[in-house]
Amino acid sequence: MALIEREAPVQPAEVTTMRAVVVHSFTEPLAIDVKPIPVPGHGEIVVRIETCGLCHTDIHAAHGDWPVKPTPPFTPGHEGVGVVTQIGDGVTEIELGDRVALPWLGYACGTCEYCVSGWETLCPNQQMMGYTMDGGMAEYAKAFAAYVVKVPDGISAAEASPLTCAGVTTYKAVKVAGTRSSDLVAVFGIGGLGHLAVQYAAIAGGRVIAVDLSDEKLELARELGAEFTINAAKEDVVAKIQELGGADQAISTAVSPKAFEQAYGSLRRRGTLVFVGLPKDNFIKLPIFETVLQGITVVGSIVGTRLDLREVFELHAAGKTRVIFEERPLSEINEAIADVDAGRIPARIVLRP
Ligand code: NAD
Ligand code: ZN
Ligand code: ZN
Repeated sequence: MALIEREAPVQPAEVTTMRAVVVHSFTEPLAIDVKPIPVPGHGEIVVRIETCGLCHTDIHAAHGDWPVKPTPPFTPGHEGVGVVTQIGDGVTEIELGDRVALPWLGYACGTCEYCVSGWETLCPNQQMMGYTMDGGMAEYAKAFAAYVVKVPDGISAAEASPLTCAGVTTYKAVKVAGTRSSDLVAVFGIGGLGHLAVQYAAIAGGRVIAVDLSDEKLELARELGAEFTINAAKEDVVAKIQELGGADQAISTAVSPKAFEQAYGSLRRRGTLVFVGLPKDNFIKLPIFETVLQGITVVGSIVGTRLDLREVFELHAAGKTRVIFEERPLSEINEAIADVDAGRIPARIVLRP
């Protein structure tokens, strides 16, 4: 067996500072600050970031949109991918020079009932990259070695980045939805998450309906395997999906409560609605009567485990998925946020320090 030798790209000793995106307040533009390169503690590593995707969650974080807010100053980013340059005491699973992904689940306790039952993403003692700990939108980021995932050779950093959140989240959402062959699956929102959701639903055997407000995004969904597309700005989504027989599963990644109500309305009897998007406006109205009489399931789905992410990388390395992205310099973070908000981007922006 050939041994692959990798150079451990240790940072030059004299380099002690880095540039990082920093949120100083929920109402100001993000800053690019010069900060000390982090030092790994016990069980921790430091990674030189090659790329970090911009997830809509980072925008919610920067604006303080959610009921539980991060505490500024902090560095966002939970799609960081890079090479390990420093290793702390007690790290056994990762070596210098490994290429790793730094997902949202930055740390979990490993012993609570959720951790031991394969639901580490629900650990009440978890830390979140780019939210409760500094994230990947920087030249270097610190992470817990046990919670990073190795990126297989052959997957570029720029492709691995969107898979690290958008990929694993929608891969898990399709698992939670329980999609099986011939199921009709409606994906609401064809952005960073949705363009991958379409592909995972198709891989699971579903016939996919893509719903968005933009014709370009629907065109993309078709290229990625959607059989039907509906523009919710122009058409009656609920009526159209009901004409097709109703969705067995609806997965809502849209950043709009209205889409969630439409997704509910599009279900057939015994259908499942999976909540994935996290719009600032936190509530929707659902009927009790119809939910009971039609045996509807409504379920939330939060990112995915380390195992889910390994599977996502495995599928991508096998050529089963396509990641649509545009690369920008990290210094253009504020322009990138404005473009995501205005829907002026292909599925994902990937930032390079
Ligand atoms: P994005 O901005 O890339 O995509 C959102 C898409 O929704 C866009 O294509 C937009 O055109 C579309 N959209 C907006 N309103 C719509 C409507 N009424 N009907 C149909 N489509 C509509 O965002 P993203 O990075 O894909 O993230 C989506 C959401 O998912 C965010 O709220 C984010 O915080 C959340 N998220 C959740 C998880 C999780 O674990 N549950 C993980 C990552 C992101
Ligand atoms: Zn994300
Ligand atoms: Zn736990």
